[in-house]
Amino acid sequence: MNTPYWISSSEGVNFEPLKEDISTDHLIIGGGLAGVTCLYLLTKAGLNVTLIDANRVGYGTTGRNTGKATAQHGYVYSKIEKNYGIDIAKKYYKANAEAINFIDDTSRQYNIDCQFKRLPAYLFTNSPEYESKLEQEFELYQQIGLDCSFEKQIPLPVDVLCALKMNNQAQFHPKRFLDGLVEQAIKQGAQIYENTRVIDFHPGKECVIETKSKNKITAKKVIIASHYPCYDGRGFYFSRLKPERSYIIGIEMDSFPDAHFINAEDPTISLRFIPEEKILLISGENHKVGHKDANHYQNLKNYAKATFNTEAVKYEWSAQDYIPHDYIPYAGYINSDNKNIFIATGFRKWGLTNSIASAILIRDLIVEGTSPYEELFTNMRVKDIVSFNFLKENADMVFQLVSGKLTLGETELPEEKGIGVIVNVGGKRCGFYRDEEDNIYLVDTTCPHMGCELKWNSQEKSWDCPCHGSRFDYKGNVLEGPAEYSLNSYNEPKNKINPQIM
Ligand SMILES: Cc1cc2nc3c(=O)[nH]c(=O)nc-3n(C[C@H](O)[C@H](O)[C@H](O)COP(=O)(O)OP(=O)(O)OC[C@H]3O[C@@H](n4cnc5c(N)ncnc54)[C@H](O)[C@@H]3O)c2cc1C
Repeated sequence: MNTPYWISSSEGVNFEPLKEDISTDHLIIGGGLAGVTCLYLLTKAGLNVTLIDANRVGYGTTGRNTGKATAQHGYVYSKIEKNYGIDIAKKYYKANAEAINFIDDTSRQYNIDCQFKRLPAYLFTNSPEYESKLEQEFELYQQIGLDCSFEKQIPLPVDVLCALKMNNQAQFHPKRFLDGLVEQAIKQGAQIYENTRVIDFHPGKECVIETKSKNKITAKKVIIASHYPCYDGRGFYFSRLKPERSYIIGIEMDSFPDAHFINAEDPTISLRFIPEEKILLISGENHKVGHKDANHYQNLKNYAKATFNTEAVKYEWSAQDYIPHDYIPYAGYINSDNKNIFIATGFRKWGLTNSIASAILIRDLIVEGTSPYEELFTNMRVKDIVSFNFLKENADMVFQLVSGKLTLGETELPEEKGIGVIVNVGGKRCGFYRDEEDNIYLVDTTCPHMGCELKWNSQEKSWDCPCHGSRFDYKGNVLEGPAEYSLNSYNEPKNKINPQIM
């Protein structure tokens, strides 16, 4: 049930892990939509490109979302305009609208069977506070020149005060689209290695990257598309990105209006129908990683029952994305000194278009030396750092660093199976888990990324980092996030901390 529809309904190709030292002109780290679109575009431009992924291509967040391709990214244009002005708000729209066209054109060109479909997107609210905000947002839509309308009703059985309808948006099957790009990139000469995790990064005129299997890759240019950057390069992404987790259920529905929907206020609910399967995806229950352990799937099921009167749940899965404090992703040069290292991150759960926009930007910087979107996505902006969100999230990070270390946990080992608990074994703080066969796992719960204390996630049976979103299974293996090393077990030395900042 926890395998996303997108992954269970796409085949993809398996690639071998890297087993030797290699050199390449361009190395892409990360095979999600950001990395694979770069791979496709750069090999199309005739360049020598290698992509590596710690897991399998397309099995990260790209295979675990709601599959909306839209420039309507919640209530966002007013926030961007307030920080950076109308021209940047216009550019944000244009970059994402072009990304939708890219999916449309490319899937037609190569006959990629990715269920691409144009339809309108609705942003609705039932909150009086957001009613006036959406009125202002609508004025901005008009200034930007969007094809849109202000509505008082939406074609769903939910109460609304108003809604913004953005026409000519789209939905698609992100994993099948990615598989189609991979196929083309291979024909264009790309090299791909899966199960190849980067654990060390040495910048330079030629960058040297070390993998977990102890192989070295030498590359003239490197594109870091590992979702959360696996190398920080003094971009201070560890303080600029908030990891946020969301949950999705897929319920059986005979029919649904030809549109997708999201509300503006908290708690967010996002709705997207898959007509080919007669499944409605309901996404929500957002929370900062490691900050809330609740019965999230049940809460979404309760919403489905109350709103659509159904309990026929066919899928459930969860995923996370990284939220920049000023709502705009970071893409382009990693910093002003290293013009041979590029980054694409911080997609705020709107990365299906933002990752493509970032890949087009990076391709243009590498091939043309310039891009109209460099200023939009640059990490040189400082409004994110002076924002209230920045201060709040970084204060929380400091709290998470010290708080867990002050409390020592239970001293009795729990009898219950299938739950994770912090215990104190001989004065040592450990994460305890007893599986169904009575095997006991005791791991060091200090995150190997930057030393924050991990929290138990009962929905996914994982240890999650409340600071930067690294996640580990109960045996200590890395599931996702910036951490490069697994958790050591009770009888091993303490975890090695490796922040990858310098
Ligand atoms: C619940 C949810 C719903 C969403 N719905 C939508 C939506 O409807 N529309 C939309 O536009 N966006 C949506 N998004 C956002 C979107 O899915 C993501 O922003 C996007 O897929 C991110 O792509 P990526 O390539 O950056 O990352 P990923 O797809 O996660 O790929 C990163 C890859 O890097 C690899 N990697 C990581 N570390 C290393 C390392 N050290 N060495 C080698 N490889 C490494 C990983 O294995 C992974 O395969 C949603 C997100 C969530 C969480």
